[in-house]
Amino acid sequence: MPRLAVLGYPVAHSRSPAMHNAALAALGMEGWSYEAIEVAPDAFEQRVLGMPGGGFAGANVTVPHKGAALSVADELSATAREVGAANTLTFTDGEVRADNTDAEGLLNALPDSPEGRRALVLGAGGAARAVVWALVREGAEVEVWNRTQLRTRHLCEELGGRPVDAPAQADYELIVNSTAVGLGGEDVFEELPLSAQGFVPGQVVVDMVYGDKRAKLLTAAESAGAAVVDGIEVLVQQGALSLEIWTGCEPPLDVMRTAARL
Ligand code: NAP
Repeated sequence: MPRLAVLGYPVAHSRSPAMHNAALAALGMEGWSYEAIEVAPDAFEQRVLGMPGGGFAGANVTVPHKGAALSVADELSATAREVGAANTLTFTDGEVRADNTDAEGLLNALPDSPEGRRALVLGAGGAARAVVWALVREGAEVEVWNRTQLRTRHLCEELGGRPVDAPAQADYELIVNSTAVGLGGEDVFEELPLSAQGFVPGQVVVDMVYGDKRAKLLTAAESAGAAVVDGIEVLVQQGALSLEIWTGCEPPLDVMRTAARL
């Protein structure tokens, strides 16, 4: 009976088991199951290498293992290699393949193509790398702001985009918060170079962070007439792509959305 999992540290808060188990049931994949496994960084490699023997067909990988997931793999997808991180592992015939569905998942969560759009990406961590890579590849004009400016420069040198110190919020057609701000209840408008009054109608605003209530950032953007995409939608889209890789089935997006939001 094939098993699937998400590996993280911590991972108890993850919505992935509920979302994937609902999808597997809707697809009629009897016997398949998806669980959350907490694994510390120093135990990650051993745990992954033992998974095929434990009946696992694949796993999602979340913070802080997305870099280590590359090193443990025998084969990398082009996206995982270029982004420099993997969130999906597949175990076939004793081999480990690493994919990155965060990048494509972000694109699928957007209401339309970012091609030619002026985009601001906040952050320079793992999530921001996937976002910048995806938007640059799609032909957006990407500017990147991060609290630690040196990281912004390194990210742009590697993946494209232009560092910006003081972004003019109203000038962007797309704004993506891919920092962790908001996760611990911090005030986004104190920590990020954005103001609640600075959004304009027609903008698309994405917040990768997800929690139990709608983020302050998205509430302000929506009141200004912007279209908003929350972190759960991005989670659903990346999860759907992972599920497709493992099962070959078309993922039931609405079932996954409902389960992820419960
Ligand atoms: P990460 O690699 O640890 O990066 C954290 C980022 O947040 C860095 O850019 C960091 O800036 C910034 N940051 C942290 N605290 C800050 C503060 N007080 N003020 C300003 N910037 C701050 O984490 P990650 O993997 O990129 O994840 C970022 C967020 O995206 C997390 O909340 C994660 O859950 C979410 N995420 C969601 C999805 C999804 O599917 N919805 C997928 C991936 C990630 P410095 O460089 O200055 O430290």
